[in-house]
Amino acid sequence: TYVIAEPCVDLLDKACIEECPVDCIYEGGRMLYIHPDECVDCGACEPVCPVEAIYYEDDVPEQWSAYTKANVDFFDEL
Ligand code: SF4
Repeated sequence: TYVIAEPCVDLLDKACIEECPVDCIYEGGRMLYIHPDECVDCGACEPVCPVEAIYYEDDVPEQWSAYTKANVDFFDEL
């Protein structure tokens, strides 16, 4: 799955939502989240993010690794 990290917080550009073929990017509070079970790993969202907030799960920068779990937790709590 792809993961959205800190640069999205309070920005919510939403260009990624337009690109996602399976509509698995959701708005939640201060940022957007990618549903880990619905994402098909197509990568279409990554290049359109103006602030490079989106990463493949194995490529999330170390300082933002907590966002991988936050992404999963967001949907667990719904
Ligand atoms: Fe949607 Fe593809 Fe991005 Fe996953 S990688 S969130 S399926 S656009």
